[in-house]
Amino acid sequence: MTDITLAPVQPDQPTHLMATYGRQAISFVRGRGAYLYTQDGTEYLDALTGIAVCGLGHAHPAIAEAIAEQAATLVHTSNLFEIPWQTAAAQKLAEVSGMEEIFFSNSGAESNEGAIKIARKFGTQQGISLPKIIVAEQSFHGRTLATLSATGNKKVQDGFAPLVEGFIRVPFGDIEAIQEAALQHPDIVAILIEPIQGEGGINTAPQGFSYLEEVRHLCNQHNWLMMLDEIQTGNGRTGKYFAYQHTNIIPDVLTTAKGLGNGFPVGAVMTQGKAVGLLGPGSHGSTYGGTVLGSRVVYTVIDTIQKENAVENAAVVGNYIVDQLRTQLADKGVQVRGFGMMIGIQLPKDCTELVAIARDEYKLIINVTAGSVVRLLPPINMTQSQADILLERLVALITNYL
Ligand SMILES: *Cc1c(COP(=O)(O)O)cnc(C)c1O
Repeated sequence: MTDITLAPVQPDQPTHLMATYGRQAISFVRGRGAYLYTQDGTEYLDALTGIAVCGLGHAHPAIAEAIAEQAATLVHTSNLFEIPWQTAAAQKLAEVSGMEEIFFSNSGAESNEGAIKIARKFGTQQGISLPKIIVAEQSFHGRTLATLSATGNKKVQDGFAPLVEGFIRVPFGDIEAIQEAALQHPDIVAILIEPIQGEGGINTAPQGFSYLEEVRHLCNQHNWLMMLDEIQTGNGRTGKYFAYQHTNIIPDVLTTAKGLGNGFPVGAVMTQGKAVGLLGPGSHGSTYGGTVLGSRVVYTVIDTIQKENAVENAAVVGNYIVDQLRTQLADKGVQVRGFGMMIGIQLPKDCTELVAIARDEYKLIINVTAGSVVRLLPPINMTQSQADILLERLVALITNYL
């Protein structure tokens, strides 16, 4: 293979990039499974996986082969033609989700845009001229105009007025607030929530997943669409293929992205039941959505997750990590939250600086969200022995910090 590695960018070097990200002054040139490597060969254990994206780990051989082979055969023809890999990917996704119809997009935000359009179509078809969608506080749904308007974080919205109308905000987990909203707004058509809030700090509702059952019940009662944003929680992350599978309910609309492509940019919006058929010919589209290459990647990712029993692994190894953290950090005043490989450690103080300490002193890649929550999103196929290395570094990091 030709060596096309570029020289590292120096921290104060001027570039032509728009300054939208606070970047760490490190770059990785190679990855393998749960590990990332810098140019000089230093190895880092990756408990972030590109923000819940590379669930099967870096440079997975089956995914790499699918990308290389398809790239050398046919990448894109457009949705003006039949795409057997897209049909096959949809079949797989229907199998693991229980959903009926699938539309492929290229990102999480774009998938949620599709869901929002479906909800509006559902409303306007019933003669509701200005349909409204219930959304939660501390939620994150993306950075496009409609999805940032749906997002429950003022920082994401700041400076981008006028926001897209039609969202009603309630506290996450608060069923009475939804009932109250129903009384005040006769034009509600849907509710859009994350089963576990990721960016918000790995929050489940106070009543746990029974919140989803209660929301399902209200949606049935009021004829609303139940829409779940599983962009982060999907694709095995929480120890079920989708997080709602921890319950007996199924949503009407489901969105996913991140782990769906293991790093290849893809997303999907799915429907079942009363949400089926709302987007017909000409009502939605995407040039890149469901390309031959992207679809083959989706098919291969799901197939690999199934063959490796990666969802079961996420449940077993993830719950082991959670249990061990609870035991080993028992007297530290921390709270450990999470399911499977989606884990948050709530610290008693602001801990943003832990990201750099973990990286430089422990060779461990983590993230801190909501100021004081250490967020772990390791590969869903992480082995028990890798989990032990993660625990050893993490417990030392937190113990020495507090
Ligand atoms: C990451 C994320 C999004 C946005 O996905 P993008 O691919 O960045 O557009 C939306 N919702 C949730 C829950 C996410 O975690």
